[in-house]
Order: sequence, then structure tokens, then C-alpha cells
Amino acid sequence: MKKTMINKCLKKSLPFLIIFSFFIGISYGQEKTPESTEIWEPQPRTVEPGEGNQPPSDAIVLFDGSDLSKWEHQDGSPAEWNVHEGMVTVEPGTGMIFTKQEFGDIQLHIEFKTPADDHDEGQGKGNSGVFLQGRYEIQVLDSDENKTYSNGQAGSIYKDHIPLVNASRKAGEWQSYDIIYQAPRFNDEGRVIIPAQITVLHNGVVIHNRVNIQGNTSYIGAHQYEEHELKEPLGLQDHGDLVSYRNIWVREL
Ligand code: MG
Repeated sequence: MKKTMINKCLKKSLPFLIIFSFFIGISYGQEKTPESTEIWEPQPRTVEPGEGNQPPSDAIVLFDGSDLSKWEHQDGSPAEWNVHEGMVTVEPGTGMIFTKQEFGDIQLHIEFKTPADDHDEGQGKGNSGVFLQGRYEIQVLDSDENKTYSNGQAGSIYKDHIPLVNASRKAGEWQSYDIIYQAPRFNDEGRVIIPAQITVLHNGVVIHNRVNIQGNTSYIGAHQYEEHELKEPLGLQDHGDLVSYRNIWVREL
């Protein structure tokens, strides 16, 4: 009985289905124009790229060569590193400095210089580091003819990823890191569900291409994630060497 009803309904609606399909076909055909795939709104907002080495107009400038007002030590005391000649140099023994502002997903530009007169070797030569979220280190080191373990050389995500190439300049010369970073995401139980992802250019050369960070940087043992906030301060390492920084800015993504 039910089957007969369904058959009757189908027979009745069949002509309408045919006509409907015909019109869908026509309108689908009409969509195949250049204009049908053009998107005019919304328009991306305008950003003025910086002149020469200057930051873009929407960047948050963290250090412009004049002072460390955007930075502090871990205990919240004023950053005691040495600001001079448009740069800031590690003041050994004072400890890491951190931004007062917290960041999650960012584009970061930072320039650094390892000391030309450092005659130490390996990890002792021009060591510092850029700590994303205060915990994931991009190594700063003099890696120009200074062999050390590959996952600890300049540009490595320390003991986590070896850089694709060694794009280091000589000690005493200014170098840059341009970093595109996505913070990790955690679930309600505190387990990482999307690891941190990073792309790094060293002096304009890609050295990490969208690699996943494996966990908190540590000197000893496998790296593991610890649940943390989406936004955390950016840190620079005091490793006892007179490494200098300048022109530090971020764009929040
Ligand atoms: Mg370091």
C-alpha cells in the first residue's frame, strides 16, 4: 500500500523535477563567467610597508633602538640590558628579558649580531635565543664556521628542528630572523590538539617551512608540551654572551 503511494507521488512530481533540473542546468551554465568567480568585498585593509628596513604601518614595535620600555625581567623588574648606539646588548648575569605584552599567532622580525671578538667555540660562541611564548627557542649563535650539534646551531628550533640550510653571516655582522608563528591549541584536558607551527627565514632564506614544534624547549630530555595560554610574552635569552639586537617588531595574525 505504502509503495503504491510513493510511486504515485513520484509520478506526479517527475515533470516538476525535470523542469527544476533544467533551470538548475541553465543557471549553472550562466555562472561560468569570469565575473562569477570574482570577489570584490570585503577588501583587505591597507598596510604601508616600511621604507627600507622600517616596520610596516600596523606593526607593534618592541624595540626601535631607543629604550627597553616594552621589556622586563621575569620577576617584573625593569630590563637591565645595555641600550647603546641603536641596539640592545645582553648584560650577562641579569637574566632573560620578556615583552610586557603577550602574543599568540604572530609575524616577528628581529635583527641580531653576535660579537666579532668572541673566540669561544660551539655553544659558547655568540649564544642567545628568541623564545616564542617564552618557551620555544629559535637559537641565536655564531654558526659561521663554528660547528656544534645541528639541532643547536643558529636558526635551529633548539633540539627540535635542524635548519634546512646554514644561512649565517659572519660574527659582527647584522642578521635577521623573520618568523611566522602559530601558537599551539590545547583541549579542555590540557592536551595539545594543534601543535605550534613555525616558518623561519634567516637573512631572507627559508630555514623552516611550516614545521611543527614538538614541545617546550629543554636542554636535557625529549621536548613535551605543557598547557599554556594562547598569548604569552616573547623572550630573549641571556646566555652570557654579548649578543646585540635591534629593529624588533611583531604583527599579530
Ligand atoms: Mg640559546
